[in-house]
Order: sequence, then structure tokens, then C-alpha cells
Amino acid sequence: MSYLFPTYARWEIEPESASGSTLTDKNGKKYLDFTSGIGVCNLGHRPNNVEEAVHKQLKQYWHVSNLFQSENQETAAKMLAEAAGLDRVFFANSGAEANEAAIKLARKATGKTKIITFKNSFHGRTFATMSATGQDKIKHGFGPMLKTFVNVSYNDIEAVNSEMGNDIAAVMIEAVQGEGGIHVGKKDFLQGVQELCKQYGTLFIIDEIQTGIGRTGKPFAFQHFDLDPDLITSAKGLGSGFPIGAVIGKEKLEPFFGQGSHGSTFGGNPVSLAAAIATMDAIFKEEFLDEVVEKSEFFFKQLRNNLNHLTIIKDIRGMGLMVGIECKLPAAPLLSELRKMGLIALPAGEKVIRLLPPLTVSKEELKYGVYIIKEILEKESLVADKQALLTK
Ligand SMILES: *Cc1c(COP(=O)(O)O)cnc(C)c1O
Repeated sequence: MSYLFPTYARWEIEPESASGSTLTDKNGKKYLDFTSGIGVCNLGHRPNNVEEAVHKQLKQYWHVSNLFQSENQETAAKMLAEAAGLDRVFFANSGAEANEAAIKLARKATGKTKIITFKNSFHGRTFATMSATGQDKIKHGFGPMLKTFVNVSYNDIEAVNSEMGNDIAAVMIEAVQGEGGIHVGKKDFLQGVQELCKQYGTLFIIDEIQTGIGRTGKPFAFQHFDLDPDLITSAKGLGSGFPIGAVIGKEKLEPFFGQGSHGSTFGGNPVSLAAAIATMDAIFKEEFLDEVVEKSEFFFKQLRNNLNHLTIIKDIRGMGLMVGIECKLPAAPLLSELRKMGLIALPAGEKVIRLLPPLTVSKEELKYGVYIIKEILEKESLVADKQALLTK
């Protein structure tokens, strides 16, 4: 019996320790970790510079309130704003909280309430962010959702156009849909959405919680598409595993998040901020990001060369080190087989294997990961081929 609410379908693995791209379980079995938490440990497990920054902060103070001056918050806010080409930052503790803050800010700044989000999107599990999310399974059993949100088809500009109007406070979108199945936004679509936002005085919000902090080879994924969002949200990779979220926005929004308008007891925790500063310091560098791009090209080439011909493969897609392998079979049993062979990967949607290796992964590790994936998917393809033959 467990005293925990069984909200997670937990794997059979119990970690004992982790370092770099490797996770070791209680039985001493070593795994190649292509999950990075869920896109969190972008510098791998326990990177030295983050560990040192956290230790230093632990010796200074752990928590004071947001009523005090905070050099760490100022430093981290400057780093985020400069990396994103934006101006003002609010710190929260998680992705959902960051989106929640962005939603509140958009409503207040525009005086409007309706927000357009997308089918297969994921924005979090709080009431507003669950309502924003375009997946029924997330909302099941919780009763009527907030009327604020309308979900339209992704990569379909006409769908956005038909809901757009002077009553829309914001459009909130992922540049690459993560949880929903690794769907990459098309450049002309994303630019079209931005154009509509400008036309109607609607705020353009990009949820960079999974795609940000170097995951796609730029500080933020929107930077691949020549976009100019009013607000972006960050979390996951920002603190290398320490809980932190952030809303980053344009200066024009400052008056709407004035004193007393929003807050959080734990938001901007000093230890998380020390981790975030060290993380950004390592990732927001041209040489580091160039390497991510190079590894990404190598990884996609390896995956396509080794897997494209297999029967059960439908598509291999993604951006940077955010990769989806869409299969013709449910992903969960395949992931279980991968774990037996020592590779940990994630699902996205029902049939997509999602790979989020640490950005510090080596080419050898990527190659070995592909080798394991090939081994399993080849076997499953043979089974599928045999079944097709026998049922002819
Ligand atoms: C994970 C995620 C969230 C929610 O973040 P939490 O920290 O789990 O609240 C929101 N949006 C996107 C795109 C995510 O990937």
C-alpha cells in the first residue's frame, strides 16, 4: 500500500544517484537518461557550476520574503530579459504558475478576458492553465472549465483568424508543442498569429516552459522564427531541477503588475535563483548553443538513417534536442522495452517517443541511445511485419 495519491503511472526504477547523462538505480543498474527530468536538467545531472552556486547560497540564506531587496533576482531577471529581448520579469515556482501569472497579466493589461490556445497544447495543471490546455484527458472529471479559453487547431492560421476579434486578450502558444506530441510550429503560421495579434491589440504569449533555456539550440525557441512576443513564460530547464518559473514581458506591461497586484511566498527562492543564474551562465553562450545545434544535426541524422525504414515508424521530428519519434503503436510499451535495455525516454501524446537528452550529452551517448532505440524498434517492426503477413 502507498500513502501517495496515485496520480502518476510510475516506472519500475528507483534512482539512487545521477550524474551527467547517467542515472543509477537502487540495484546499481545504470541508465542513459534521455529525459533530463522532463526537460529540466538541461546541463545533465548535478552540473558542477550549479552545485557550487547552490552550496554557496545555502551557506548564506535559504529564504527571506519578497519584501527584501534581492541581488539574485535582479541578476537573473536581467539575464532572462536580455536573452529574450524583453524587459520585465516576475518569478514564480513552476511552469503552471508562470502561465497563470501571464494569463492574469494579459487580462489586466487588455481589460479583455478571452484567450486563444491550441489543440494538443499543454500549459499546466492549475485551474486556469488546465482550462487553457487543449487536451481533454487533462480536464476529465473536473467539471466545467473556465470560459476564458478557446482551443483552435495548431499550424492552422484560418482557425485562429476565425476566432480572432477585438475581444481577445491574448493568444498563448508553444513554438514547439511538447506534451502534445512534439509538433513544430510553422514559421509562416507563427508569424501570421503574431500579425493577427498586432492587428487586434491582442497580447502574443509564447509558452517556452519546455522549449526554452537552450533546448532547441537558441535561448528560446521563438528566436528561430523571427518573432516578437509580448510575454514569454519559462520554467523546467531554468533552475536545473530547483523549482522556479518566470514570466518575461515587455516594458509596456509594467503598470499592470504594480505593487500588490500579484505575488508568491516562495517565488524567486534564493537557492533556485542561484541555480538559475549558474544555469543561464552556462547555456546562454554562443559556443554552448552552437554545440547544441551541432549535436542536434548529428542526432537527427543518426535517428533518420537508422529508423526511417522501420515499419512501425511514422515520423521523426523536432527541433534542437527536443525530438519526437512518432510510431504506429502506443509508446508506453516501447518505452518499457527501452528501459530494460538501459535507456530512459518519455512519451508525448499516445504514440510519440519523446527524447529530451541533456544539452551536455556527448555524441557517443547520442549514438549509443540511437543504437538501443534501433534495437527495440527493429524488433517491434519485425513483429508487426510478421503479424501483417500472417493476417493477409
Ligand atoms: C511542463 C509544462 C508546463 C507546466 O509546468 P509545471 O512546472 O509542471 O507546472 C507548462 N507548459 C509547458 C509547455 C510545459 O511543457
